[in-house]
Amino acid sequence: MAVKNLPFSETQLTEIIKKHPTPFHIYDEKAIVENARYLNKAFSWNEGFKEYFAVKAAPNPFLLKILYKEGFGTDCSSLSELILSEQCGIVGEEIMFSSNDTPAEEFVKAKELGATINLDDISHIDFLEKHAGIPELISFRYNPGKLRKGNFIIGDPEESKYGFTREQIFEGFKKVRDMGAKRFGIHTFVASNELNPQFFVDTANMLFELAIELKEQIDIRLEFVNLSGGIGIPYKPEQSAVDLDLVSNGIKKLYDEKIVSNQLHPLKIFMECGRMVTGPYGYLVSEVLHKKEIYRNYVGLDACMANLMRPGLYNAYHHITVTGKEDAPLDHVYDVTGSLCENNDKFAVNRNLPKIDIGDILVIHDAGAHGHAMGFNYNGKLRSAELLLRTDNSVLEIRRAETLDDYFCTLDLNASKAFSA
Ligand SMILES: *Cc1c(COP(=O)(O)O)cnc(C)c1O
Repeated sequence: MAVKNLPFSETQLTEIIKKHPTPFHIYDEKAIVENARYLNKAFSWNEGFKEYFAVKAAPNPFLLKILYKEGFGTDCSSLSELILSEQCGIVGEEIMFSSNDTPAEEFVKAKELGATINLDDISHIDFLEKHAGIPELISFRYNPGKLRKGNFIIGDPEESKYGFTREQIFEGFKKVRDMGAKRFGIHTFVASNELNPQFFVDTANMLFELAIELKEQIDIRLEFVNLSGGIGIPYKPEQSAVDLDLVSNGIKKLYDEKIVSNQLHPLKIFMECGRMVTGPYGYLVSEVLHKKEIYRNYVGLDACMANLMRPGLYNAYHHITVTGKEDAPLDHVYDVTGSLCENNDKFAVNRNLPKIDIGDILVIHDAGAHGHAMGFNYNGKLRSAELLLRTDNSVLEIRRAETLDDYFCTLDLNASKAFSA
């Protein structure tokens, strides 16, 4: 069971809202740090274990720096994410560049930063050579195809656009070795938002087996296996968080059996988690603007799908707390909506909640990853601010809200006035 508490009191939230109008996202620094330490501790048996935080989950420099201080690197997949990482002083092999369909300039930037480049396709070997040169350290993304089943969000590997086939992995490593590469890693990403700990043990097993075969068949000795992201979080109160100690112990057992006994030790274990790192520790705070009673009862917020797309996109459950009514009976049923002209702009459908009044503050849980980051400007909606609840309980604005000027800045309105159609 996941406990859906808030890291701030109602009084504290009221004070925060006085300074920072709703809607906003707020992140709990203390919980993020504790969770980062938990992950590092779970894998401390593995020399060189490293988590590269998937920047796309929460691309904010303040969060990246908090995580970097805990020993995390960054996992980037675009030019902007590389530059953001660089701006935080996170460079070199602290960056994992796991992109796909990659433009040449992104490979050039990644190489210039000394990032570990994780290629998505065998054809990218020649592409990389042509535009940036083959680096000494290189990694390939493996797609096991029929050999593994995926899950809902990411789908089955065989239907996924990512990675090298099994044959291509062998061919590719021989090729880059001939081109001068000297250090090698392998990556795979087969499930997203997965709560079953065994899934990650199985993934490690698959990569350990591959490490053995690469050594035996083509004398490629891997330096790391990258299990990527995909560790789920308990969005629903009745779900439970993945027990990282369980995952780690399962992987350690396989490591001893397969890696150590085949003289492949040391082999570093890497991860690129996003969701489990910040997801549960970010909240979307919003005020009730309207109530509407037609065939169903609706509660309309000042936030919308542009602030948190997951419910509309995946029909995802996000827990909602009505502040000050935590202990009230859940004896009303509402659809909680935003203001987009899209009927899937709903944070909750047929949700049992306490009686809600106009002006109530609703806190939407588990918005700390793929939340603000997935924001968009459809319907002219402006993206909200991001706040950080610091360990000393102070609040820092880590991204201001967008303004109308931001919204219009890519248009030349003066030129449009002079324009006649
Ligand atoms: C999205 C992504 C991740 C992070 O996934 P989470 O589900 O947030 O853990 C890691 N690596 C790559 C290549 C990704 O695309």
